[in-house]
Amino acid sequence: MSALLEIADLKAFYGASQALFGVTFSVGEGEVVALMGRNGMGKTTTIHSLCRMLTNTRGSIRFLDQDIVRLPSHRTARLGVGLVPEGRRCFPNLSVAENLSAAARPGEWDFKQVAQLFPRLEERRHQRASTLSGGEQQMLAIGRALMTNPKLLVLDEATEGLAPVVRQEIWAAIRQLKQSGLSILVVDKTLSELTRVADRCVILEKGVNAWQGTPGELSDKVRDRYLGV
Ligand code: ATP
Repeated sequence: MSALLEIADLKAFYGASQALFGVTFSVGEGEVVALMGRNGMGKTTTIHSLCRMLTNTRGSIRFLDQDIVRLPSHRTARLGVGLVPEGRRCFPNLSVAENLSAAARPGEWDFKQVAQLFPRLEERRHQRASTLSGGEQQMLAIGRALMTNPKLLVLDEATEGLAPVVRQEIWAAIRQLKQSGLSILVVDKTLSELTRVADRCVILEKGVNAWQGTPGELSDKVRDRYLGV
């Protein structure tokens, strides 16, 4: 069986400046892949290329056996790529419930399911998104992505800037989503949590693959060399 997502020799450009020089990896059905690397190595650029928010790319991106490089971003979302963007963008003036329903597409994920995963969103359902805490906004951003009923959930900086206790809630939710069989591509700086949840790690350095393997194979030498820990 072919992978859900297959990225091969991906190159990406910001104007004349090249940011990716050949990124290759796949995400299988039900698999959790951690995209890793130090700051500026190309993780967000890879995600933006996948979601077609960055279109100046070369190479191949296949999702569900379809070449998606010519699709506009709303079509990739419709195909089943659910993005939780860095900085957890939601509609600030809409309520929690309105934010969620604006993203809704048919499938098993609805308000009730999202509220089960994040009970805090049920409590705050009439509150405007701009008045939520950072953690609640991230829950809402994940909830919005889930409401699209994605086949692949993509989290860019899953817990950045959140208090430790809230981070734990987000990681617990991600583990629960993994258990439910959802495929996930995740970027974060918390190595311990990433390696706990990921089936595979893909490390980028200067816009190319530097290393791939299971968390168990991630030696101190590899961590030291590519992740600076
Ligand atoms: P971080 O963890 O800091 O977000 P990252 O691994 O996600 O890092 P990217 O944001 O993808 O890295 O950046 C990859 C390269 O592309 C960097 O050299 C960066 O300076 C460059 N880059 C990113 N965004 C732009 C942009 N809008 N215009 C020009 N260059 C950019």
